[in-house]
Amino acid sequence: MRLFFRPASPSAARSGISRRVAVAALSLAAALPLSAHAQQKVLNLYSARHYQTDEALYADFTKATGIKINRVDADDAGILTRLQSEGSASPADVILLVDASRLWRAETTGLFQPIKSTLLESRIPATLRGDQTAEGIAWFGLSTRARVIVYNKATVNKANVSTYESLADPKHKGKLCTRSGSHPYNLSLFGSMMEHLGEAGVESWLKGLVANMARDPKGGDTDQIKAVASGECQIALTNSYYLARLMRSNKPEDRAVIDKIGVVFPNQQSFGTHVNIAGAAVAKHSPNRDNAVKFVEYLASDQAQIYFADGNNEWPVVARVKVSNPALAALGEFKSETIPVKFAGRNQTKVQQILDRVGYK
Ligand code: FE
Repeated sequence: MRLFFRPASPSAARSGISRRVAVAALSLAAALPLSAHAQQKVLNLYSARHYQTDEALYADFTKATGIKINRVDADDAGILTRLQSEGSASPADVILLVDASRLWRAETTGLFQPIKSTLLESRIPATLRGDQTAEGIAWFGLSTRARVIVYNKATVNKANVSTYESLADPKHKGKLCTRSGSHPYNLSLFGSMMEHLGEAGVESWLKGLVANMARDPKGGDTDQIKAVASGECQIALTNSYYLARLMRSNKPEDRAVIDKIGVVFPNQQSFGTHVNIAGAAVAKHSPNRDNAVKFVEYLASDQAQIYFADGNNEWPVVARVKVSNPALAALGEFKSETIPVKFAGRNQTKVQQILDRVGYK
């Protein structure tokens, strides 16, 4: 697990003089009324977004507000474990995760505090956020990614892979590659499929996927795309931004991969393509709550939404935001699921049990 902390000012922490100044500033702060404490210009961000392009996003926020961001980077699971072990002593203010089920789980284990923000409620669709409760809403989707099918154009007929269900068709025996079934991206897809197919339906579907595997599940989404291009397998699942990243690459080896594969937005004639989110929440024990809310609201601004789209090839959640990303434009418009993303979360335990039963590694 990658876990490191970036202090706002490492040089200040190392310098004895600066430390004395910092201590003086702290004692001054202690003498100030509570409201002045809330004005502290700092924000502690625990982030599972590991995309370099997000740096500019954070820098712009600091420039506009004077609020410095201290960042802890880890994956979703690492962040949740850390929050749990830190308990009420946690310095975390804002949590960024990259999967709806994980956001749902963190909410149900009480790691977030609901917030009331008319701005967020008006900009972010109800299907892409946590439950509305009397205290507010615990998490908000900030960008969307579609889980699409890629296929080898030389060996697979596009019409035969037009739905998620079609991947379990016995005619695709030995052709399918996926990453681990227990990876959050797959768990959320399978959890959402349980809403569409029912428990028994999803079990026989997953059994069919296992029967069609070209090899044991391994690697990340990009590895699946490359395996389809190389002919190791013929069909795979990937999040859309990994595909868009290859589409925008100038490297000849990436161009060669893209030339060999086709992409399908599944289930356009039925319930639509499965969409997951990256989202944010305010931590339960946030010491800088006002700054935290300000930051989450900033992430829903037009400017930040454009960063998500251009930087990491995701779609904005704010519908009217216009983006100019050649890869997203090439992928085109598609019909996405309309069920709330949180539904994927509530099916997780059942999905994991099914994966164990059908031997999906
Ligand atoms: Fe990812």
